[in-house]
Amino acid sequence: MSDTEKLIDLLKNKSKLVAMLAPSFPIMYDSVKIISKLRVLGFEKVVEVSVGAKETNRQLGEFIKANPEKRLITSPCASFVRFIRTKHPEYVQYLALNIDSPMTATAKIVAEKYPGYQPVFIGPCIVKKLEASQDHPELNILVLTYKELEEVFKQMNVNTESLSSMTDFDLSEASTRMYPTDGGLADSSGVRNIIGDEAVRVVSGYKNCEAALTEFQNNPKIKLLDILFCEGGCINGPGITSPLSIEDRKKKIVEYT
Ligand code: SF4
Repeated sequence: MSDTEKLIDLLKNKSKLVAMLAPSFPIMYDSVKIISKLRVLGFEKVVEVSVGAKETNRQLGEFIKANPEKRLITSPCASFVRFIRTKHPEYVQYLALNIDSPMTATAKIVAEKYPGYQPVFIGPCIVKKLEASQDHPELNILVLTYKELEEVFKQMNVNTESLSSMTDFDLSEASTRMYPTDGGLADSSGVRNIIGDEAVRVVSGYKNCEAALTEFQNNPKIKLLDILFCEGGCINGPGITSPLSIEDRKKKIVEYT
């Protein structure tokens, strides 16, 4: 059964569902309309994954303060984590895998606030499906891309005219809404204030990953490598359908933030 079919099944069975909307959503959707549409579809709760991103930042800040000498590579990018595990296992030691990604942090918050609800992550990334199923099966997260969500709207006959009056998020967080852009983690977490600007390196794009690792290896002054596999960050993830350029996608996120 595909993930699209799984969600349709859950909706038809009137399961208690929480939509966890990734912070790249403004590229595809107006916030009021998408919250409303998800509620009409059958989600009782709709939360922003930027809530979990704040928790990711908190954990990262605490870890860096407690381990000032440790050099780290960020781990929210599921593709980059897999790239390291399969192609460069010698760097696994630097991956900050003890720190929750925004998706897993949000799922933990949701499990506490809304026990008994099925968490459904909706975002730009197909590899998040592997992060959920392989790294955190205990959180039972169903992962759909925006493209797959569109398919569900189509199959369940939910159109833009079907508006709910509940157009606010159940949980939201503004401080981490830039997370899906390259450098969003470094900029919103305050790590630059802890370890200094020169100790932070921001990189995005799979073509730049090898060079970034070589630089990280050769330059011990780099204490934090904030890296995302898609060029420009998750705003350019494969699960997004948009004619906009990377720059224009970034503008959309800035406007929403
Ligand atoms: S940068 Fe791309 S591959 Fe990495 S988490 Fe974001 S969308 Fe997925």
